[in-house]
Amino acid sequence: MDILRGISVAPGVAIGEVVVLEAEDVRIPYRTVAKDQIPEELTRLKEAFDASIREVQEQAEWLREHLGRDAANVFEWHVGVLKDDHLRESIEEKIQQEGAAAAYAASTVMRNYQRRFLQMSDPLLVERIRDVQDIERRLLRNILGASAEDLAHLSKPTILVSHDLTPTQTAHLAETKVIGVALDAGAATSHTAILLRSWGRPGVIGLKDVATRISGGDTMIIDGTNQLVIVDPNPSTLKEYRTRERAYVRFSGELNEFQHLPAVTRDEHRVTLLSNIEFPHEAAIGVAKGGEGIGLYRTEFLFLRPEGAPSEDEQYEAYCEAIDGAGNQPVTIRTFDLGADKYTQQRSYEQERNPMLGLRSIRYSLQNLDMFKVQLRAVLRASGHGKVRVMFPLINSLMEFRQAKMTVHDAMEDLEEEGVRVDSDIEIGMMLETPAAAIQVKEFCREVGFISIGTNDLIQYLLAVDRGNERVSRFYTASHPAVLRVLRDVIRACTQAGIDCSLCGEMAGRPLYTLVLLGLGLRQLSMAPANIPEVKKLIRLVTMGQAQRIARRALSFETDRQVTNYLRDETRKVLPEDPI
Ligand code: PEP
Ligand code: MG
Repeated sequence: MDILRGISVAPGVAIGEVVVLEAEDVRIPYRTVAKDQIPEELTRLKEAFDASIREVQEQAEWLREHLGRDAANVFEWHVGVLKDDHLRESIEEKIQQEGAAAAYAASTVMRNYQRRFLQMSDPLLVERIRDVQDIERRLLRNILGASAEDLAHLSKPTILVSHDLTPTQTAHLAETKVIGVALDAGAATSHTAILLRSWGRPGVIGLKDVATRISGGDTMIIDGTNQLVIVDPNPSTLKEYRTRERAYVRFSGELNEFQHLPAVTRDEHRVTLLSNIEFPHEAAIGVAKGGEGIGLYRTEFLFLRPEGAPSEDEQYEAYCEAIDGAGNQPVTIRTFDLGADKYTQQRSYEQERNPMLGLRSIRYSLQNLDMFKVQLRAVLRASGHGKVRVMFPLINSLMEFRQAKMTVHDAMEDLEEEGVRVDSDIEIGMMLETPAAAIQVKEFCREVGFISIGTNDLIQYLLAVDRGNERVSRFYTASHPAVLRVLRDVIRACTQAGIDCSLCGEMAGRPLYTLVLLGLGLRQLSMAPANIPEVKKLIRLVTMGQAQRIARRALSFETDRQVTNYLRDETRKVLPEDPI
């Protein structure tokens, strides 16, 4: 039994058999198996060879039919390598003599094989190295588990283990039988983590090397509540976790009783809880969980698909679907926040040295005005269909806000000339996500319709910690005293100016921060729908006076650890049964 600690994306327990997603580009570390497991590894290897040969033969067949003999020859060469007895025997030997795991043995032998090609003087043979790499990947995938496409065909509840997942892969998990996820990569506010949170199943990420420590078919427990994964649990641990699984289901069931009650404190202060969504169909989920509108619709996910950017009509339809799903409640549409860790297909080839500081968000929009205008036209047309607000990501200077706002007005004029109905009073706001914007908040308050604080980015820029990098994730925390002070100043400035201010970073959905955020003066929080019931329950159990006292005290600490410990104690006093 192996216990690994990572970062939780969603609470709860999942227990099941593992499937390991393609190990492309992952180095397989040395792993041995017990003597009595050697036959199993040999069978695993044999099956992987057979499956690989079958796949390649099918591909060659298809190519021969559609593109002719020459194209098919490449794959026939692959079949030849896979059928090479000497290669297979070398791998088997490594398993038998060293007790090496099949994946490790295959990867080592294949890499030696690659080296031989590298040393050849004939450039045509050196070219073959790519083919050998391709064969290695295929073989490893067949040893370790599934490919992305296979996930769609899982026949039973399964735990997915992978080095990383792209946002697009993550977005499709809801259509599969995956019940929990464990990843090597990622940090709490990476976009993959955000999507996993919306999906709502237990998940632990940032585990560094989980994908190479296990094989498909092993049993794993994901303990999202305690940020752990347990590989090959012993019977008593398994039994204990079955009980915990039931307790968590009971706890979430009890929370559901709160979802349709108003978010009001014991002394009658009203708070508005809104939903963050990535896809239009989630708007209805937000309402079902007790949300009162959409505080953040991350529209860039419409663009992150293989077909490229959606047309104006496709966008219009998506926005209308979100509006309909949200009932009569307002929908805040954030214009596409591309760049950084969210690339469109064609941009993924243009490497940036510091993508988080690169051409992203509103900067990208203002340099791609045609694409930006298409989106604004779609948003404005949707504003004729229901209550919509528009918001720009990563505004860092007044000039950027003015230019973006002007683009909205240009698009509006065009549409009005065409006789299209739009909301000419549409509210135009900004996300406050950079230290520069926080420092200039008073100036912004004079020009913007509303402000939504994006703490995911604000924390990364304020603390100089990459939000998606597991190696520095322990430095990334909303409890840092500097973060609390900046939030205090921004919220205070907005309140004094009478500007509508909300917070839509991940901290809005974490019960640990609910009381301090209320105490700092926020009355609108936007979060993953799954978090709404618990945050609501907490709000209904406190008075505003209590929250203000907690905020004052939290602001007096010097270190993040003191802040976290204090907030945990205070939250537990209010909600002792919270398993988090
Ligand atoms: C944020 O930065 O806090 C935010 C809500 O936006 P995103 O997570 O999409 O960058
Ligand atoms: Mg952001």
